[in-house]
Amino acid sequence: MSGTDDLDSLLERNRQWAAALTDSDPQYFVRLAHQQLPRYLWIGCSDSRVPANQILGLMPGEIFVHRNVANVVVHSDLNCLSVIQYAVEVLRVRDIIVCGHYGCGGVSAAFREQKFGLIDNWLRHVQDVRHRHSAELAAAGSSEAQLRRLCELHVLAQTVHVGETTVVQDAWRRGQELAVHGLIYGLDDGILRHLGLSMTSDAGLAAYKESHPAAPSARLAPR
Ligand code: ZN
Repeated sequence: MSGTDDLDSLLERNRQWAAALTDSDPQYFVRLAHQQLPRYLWIGCSDSRVPANQILGLMPGEIFVHRNVANVVVHSDLNCLSVIQYAVEVLRVRDIIVCGHYGCGGVSAAFREQKFGLIDNWLRHVQDVRHRHSAELAAAGSSEAQLRRLCELHVLAQTVHVGETTVVQDAWRRGQELAVHGLIYGLDDGILRHLGLSMTSDAGLAAYKESHPAAPSARLAPR
């Protein structure tokens, strides 16, 4: 933001947006101010081109959102875990969507081992995925194809991490209806794609890990 002119223009845009919504539904903000009842939790990348509400065509109040660089879910990240806990136990969302995207700068930096400073430490989590799947990535072909595949594998790994959190495990154990999905978004066509991983129980999580030996903390198959 380079000056108060820029801020003024943002505030003006906000007033126009609020006025347009109130015109079409005079009670809109009154209702929202009283409660939010989102059905979904979105865990996505901070990338400015991947805004959850717009992509899904949802209004404020319809989706609870957590975003960080490269949509990483780590078991020691109190910020992300708190979002998941509040969403599952208080808001009682029915679906958690982990969404990555092709062309992700964070995944690309990890893939190409670029150095940007402090953030390199955060992106080590993406490199862990890369190392775990090095054979599959090598077989994917061109470096562009490998990067696209790494974007997908990274989403799948983070989706598994969500399923492994104590919050989701506890919810499944007490029979709460809760699904966790892995999706990827195309910057070049605006389309969300399901990566074939949706889990609604610990058994589903275990089955996925059994059939994907390179998945995070997969148990060794009995010989
Ligand atoms: Zn990204």
